[in-house]
Amino acid sequence: MTLPFLSLKDVTALHGEEIQEAVAKVVAGGWYLQGEQNALFERHYADFIGTRYCVGCANGLDALIWIFRAYIELGVMAPGDEVIVPANTYIATILAITENGLKPVLAEPRMDTLEIDDSRIEEAITDRTRAIAIVHLYGRNAYTEKIGELCRKYGLKLIEDNAQAHGCRVPDGRRTGSVGDAAGHSFYPGKNLGALGDGGAVTTDDPALADAVRTLANYGSQKKYVFKYTGRNSRLDEIQAAVLDVKLKYLEADNAHRKAIAAYYYENIHNPLVYLPERLPDQQNVYHLFPVFSTKRDTLQAYLKENGVGTLIHYPIPPHKQECYKEYANYSLPITEKIAEEELSIPIGPCLKEEEAAQVVSLINSFR
Ligand SMILES: *Cc1c(COP(=O)(O)O)cnc(C)c1O
Repeated sequence: MTLPFLSLKDVTALHGEEIQEAVAKVVAGGWYLQGEQNALFERHYADFIGTRYCVGCANGLDALIWIFRAYIELGVMAPGDEVIVPANTYIATILAITENGLKPVLAEPRMDTLEIDDSRIEEAITDRTRAIAIVHLYGRNAYTEKIGELCRKYGLKLIEDNAQAHGCRVPDGRRTGSVGDAAGHSFYPGKNLGALGDGGAVTTDDPALADAVRTLANYGSQKKYVFKYTGRNSRLDEIQAAVLDVKLKYLEADNAHRKAIAAYYYENIHNPLVYLPERLPDQQNVYHLFPVFSTKRDTLQAYLKENGVGTLIHYPIPPHKQECYKEYANYSLPITEKIAEEELSIPIGPCLKEEEAAQVVSLINSFR
């Protein structure tokens, strides 16, 4: 068997004809930026997430950068202010904070949920704290009532990194991406809702924030040749918006397929050397990734590779151990480090067949 970690070719082919038609229509239409495809997708995605506004932009990192930058422009935050963020996130969440001269305060996750440990947030709050950034990592809901209460108690903004969790819900049924003050979304090709290139969006209910983000991502301009901010060119193009609008219609069905595969993994993976994260109610996990853990992770990865199964590690080096964040190198973040040492993502996606999942399970179960 050869089973790649994820075949984007197959993912695109799932809705291939409709995608081709949508792209061809934009190509023939002659309007490639800031047109009706963006307007349509933004409306549909805001409705899907459950926010008043959605603003498309170039990628997920920019979406997060624009949220913090907009809060600075609006006078809500200032360089030097602190943002609490999970230490085990993909580095983009932290880059968005430091890009704006804000200070990331790294908080440990829980080993069972893999998400920020809400019992350790309050001790990290100081009089410079302006926001808590939560990350719905692996497609798992990270929001808890306690996080909402802390934000209200201390007057903090809640920012969601929803790059990995399109379609996920929090316990009360709202979608991730709609529970905070603003959320950044990535449409990187491998994400649950992926474009055929880069793409991103900000969702929010706050009209001033939506306006500032849209302006910043368009050179800082609202009116042609008039510049309010020193922005950048960070727009979502019409071809990507058209592709995303097609794929959004199938997102729930694609996520349901991921959930069925995940249920199969949860019910059938039995090996004392391999443990799985806590199983959340189905609506709170869209299984962007399926992480398993082992103290013999590297041997397990090599063994699966020898047997034709592709896997990835999310993520092998945590942000505080990266050269670019040397100043955090001595921080003691044992849970974050344990996750980096033991995590292995096994194949999951909208095209993975049950026979393939069965082979993955039988390989993992026979690992010694
Ligand atoms: C993918 C990802 C991003 C960044 O998105 P890009 O579109 O690749 O810039 C941010 N945060 C998380 C958690 C991600 O997984």
